[in-house]
Amino acid sequence: MDKVIKTRNYQKHIMKDGTLDICRACHRPGETLRHIVSGCSHLANSEYLHRHNQVARIVHQQLALRFGLIDLMPYYRYGPASVLENSSALLYWDRTITIDRYITANRPDIVLVDRSVRRAIIVDFPFVQTKIEPHARTTDFSELRAF
Ligand SMILES: [Zn+2]
Repeated sequence: MDKVIKTRNYQKHIMKDGTLDICRACHRPGETLRHIVSGCSHLANSEYLHRHNQVARIVHQQLALRFGLIDLMPYYRYGPASVLENSSALLYWDRTITIDRYITANRPDIVLVDRSVRRAIIVDFPFVQTKIEPHARTTDFSELRAF
């Protein structure tokens, strides 16, 4: 047996068993592996968002540990605070950044301000690869450079 995931696209085009290539979740054509992993509109606001938040939480926890903002705890118990701060760093979680002019992309997943080198790092995790819009969000944070 070949080790493939038996998507409906696989059934239709490889197995040629007459299956209709309709996604079982969103009922749209094209149930490919890529569609299931990152392109299904039905899964966008649930499974993909959950996966995205889990990854972002782990990165946030590692940054917080690295800068001495939290004590070590199991990753599955960690819930990021909106703001963590000490003398060496400032760490934001999913927080709107306000600057002196209007910009649309102002809420990255994580912002780290490393005070020792006077530098801010913006971290944002895309969670879909296709054109579906799970929620209105712009991820081009280039305008935050002035921040
Ligand atoms: Zn789908």
